[in-house]
Amino acid sequence: MLQRLVRVRAIAVAISSSSPKISSPYSIPPTFTRTLTFTLSRLSSTMASTDDSLRKSLADKHAAVEAQGNTVRALKAAGAPKPEIDAAIEALNALKLEKASIERSLLGGSETREAFRQAVVNTLERRLFYIPSFKIYRGVAGLFDYGPPGCAVKSNVLSFWRQHFVLEENMLEVDCPCVTPEIVLKASGHVDKFTDLMMKDEKTGTCYRADHLLKDFCNEKLQRDPTLSSYKIAELKHVLATLDDLSAEELGAKIRDYGIVAPETKNALSDPYPFNLMFQTSIGPSGLSPGFMRPETAQGIFVNFKDLYYYNGNKLPFAAAQIGQAFRNEISPRQGLLRVREFTLAEIEHFVDPQDKSHPKYAEVADLEFLMFPREQQMSGQSAKRILLRDAVSKGIVNNETLGYFIGRVYLFLTRLGIDSGRLRFRQHLANEMAHYAADCWDAEIECSYGWIECVGIADRSAYDLRAHSDKSGVPLVAHEKFSEPKEVEKLVITPVKKELGLAFKGNQRMVVEALEAMPEKEALDMKAALESKGEVEFQVCTLEKNVTIKKTMVTIQKEIKKEHQRVFTPSVIEPSFGIGRIIYCLFEHTFYTRPSKAGDEQLNVFSFPSLVAPIKCTVFPLVQNQKYEEVAKLISKSLTAAGISHKIDTTGTSIGKRYARTDELGVPFAITVDSTSSVTIRERDSKDQVRVDVEKAATVVKEVTEGHRTWEDVWLNFPHHSSTSADD
Ligand code: AMP
Repeated sequence: MLQRLVRVRAIAVAISSSSPKISSPYSIPPTFTRTLTFTLSRLSSTMASTDDSLRKSLADKHAAVEAQGNTVRALKAAGAPKPEIDAAIEALNALKLEKASIERSLLGGSETREAFRQAVVNTLERRLFYIPSFKIYRGVAGLFDYGPPGCAVKSNVLSFWRQHFVLEENMLEVDCPCVTPEIVLKASGHVDKFTDLMMKDEKTGTCYRADHLLKDFCNEKLQRDPTLSSYKIAELKHVLATLDDLSAEELGAKIRDYGIVAPETKNALSDPYPFNLMFQTSIGPSGLSPGFMRPETAQGIFVNFKDLYYYNGNKLPFAAAQIGQAFRNEISPRQGLLRVREFTLAEIEHFVDPQDKSHPKYAEVADLEFLMFPREQQMSGQSAKRILLRDAVSKGIVNNETLGYFIGRVYLFLTRLGIDSGRLRFRQHLANEMAHYAADCWDAEIECSYGWIECVGIADRSAYDLRAHSDKSGVPLVAHEKFSEPKEVEKLVITPVKKELGLAFKGNQRMVVEALEAMPEKEALDMKAALESKGEVEFQVCTLEKNVTIKKTMVTIQKEIKKEHQRVFTPSVIEPSFGIGRIIYCLFEHTFYTRPSKAGDEQLNVFSFPSLVAPIKCTVFPLVQNQKYEEVAKLISKSLTAAGISHKIDTTGTSIGKRYARTDELGVPFAITVDSTSSVTIRERDSKDQVRVDVEKAATVVKEVTEGHRTWEDVWLNFPHHSSTSADD
């Protein structure tokens, strides 16, 4: 979706202190008892009052440190006895420690959040879920590789996406090139407007995102400066809340007012200026045909609308979908997988008649209830609250049924993947965030250690994109509604006088005729008025990339009563756009927990992935190194392969407890341990419960339970339980 404000807001809102937050403990899956080392919960209202009282304590402590510092200096100057000076220094140090502790609390648990994040990221990188790209050459900011388990998780997420959306809705999937000619992105507006404001260190040339500099400054001040007056606090909070509305000049003025300099060097900064985020290239060897790496996949669908509509039997509504790489040359990528320079997008463009935005399957999701954060609640400083989707649509909070339908489907998609519903909310765009043409926009935001992150944008973009490409290409991207009986309608009829146009424009006549015929009504009426008053008018013909002069004799424009057999219109488009990397990262955080080893001497990491996304569904371990057990393990492995269940055999002599711990860290949900030649045990990752199953049945049971045909509770009820001390190691 083209809209810089929207893009920037994704993370700006998430961490802006003005954005009310809801509490959301990093929860424990309900059925299992476990020790969760990191619990992170925050409640915005209590936080605000706690913040105020902490800020006051910090101011008091700051004053006490200053006073004690003066005492120490005075004692030294007066040549006081050493024990007296030492005692005063000790008191000073104690005060400094207390001050530091208040500063830490004021950071609002950010240290806990960072420690949690570090634990997750260390595990992810150590187990090769993802790796900084080109690491041996010190890497490149904003580029990451997925390693084997990461690839498997991503591929599972994408195949579930295809099943949940493409298959369920009979969507038309396409796969378009990443390299895109300039004209396409000129029409969509990306060439002119897909920018972030950048500032440069005047001496070293290091680049910064202007809004990030201002945001970091405000947050830092709010968190660390004990001397701030309540007036200043309100001002800084206001700046954070309105950051996205500031023009380049206003942003520059604020940054100058606050004396913000380059963070590392303290050098002066340039004025902010727009930086286009697209990677530019040229197509072919001549260098004459400019192109860009696509910043989103949507344009590939829009330009194919005409053919897709035909393929769909000229019927609306229908949706097209595309999964592919998108490229954005982010100015200063940070926050790991959340803001990168190349990422996978999965986008849906659902084309619908603007006069009928009902959805035949809306009833299937209408009774879902989840956290929604409508515009009104945001403006009045309230928190997100649980709302029944049906109510949100019927009260007009959500603009239409189709948009509501997709919000509901996105909720189901994310929660089935394993996203915690308590840390998922749908936030409506504020009026200033939305493009002027958009009817309504909602972001699915997921809370993680970085705050609330926009992971899916769901927008009703009206007819903007198809119109933009119709205008630029001269190809009408429209739909037709056939009437059962002809209707009499008053119509503006544009009739180009081909003979006159031929004489004036020769070989270009066809392009001028098409452009005249494609004029929107308002433009045609303006032309008619201008021709009547002045006799001629300048007219832009996009396909010729120039203006031509149209004279009164070259076209007639008049209203006529006509019999119409069909209505021709530009469809509206409802666009759910999924940032796959962001969803996966949030999923990593939501499923990660630690539990103590049996000996209690270390913390073991676990990813509690649902089977649907787990990179490997099952491991097979011979309990001890023994040829008979290994043969049984190979037999089971063969059956698992035949059943299409991804698995891994581990025949190393490592203790079974260590082998379990290794696979828990990869989020493998089930482990088959071969401890006899007739039956084996199956262990469930989170409960660590084990059942005993005949060798021949083991693969089938694992298949049933990983594919969701059977629950673990059902398996637990129907098979003998196995308890072993080693299993719990
Ligand atoms: P947008 O077209 O800006 O609305 O972006 C669509 C989706 O792409 C967002 O909801 C994000 O999930 C994701 N996204 C946008 N920018 C980035 C980025 N730099 N890195 C990773 N994901 C991104």
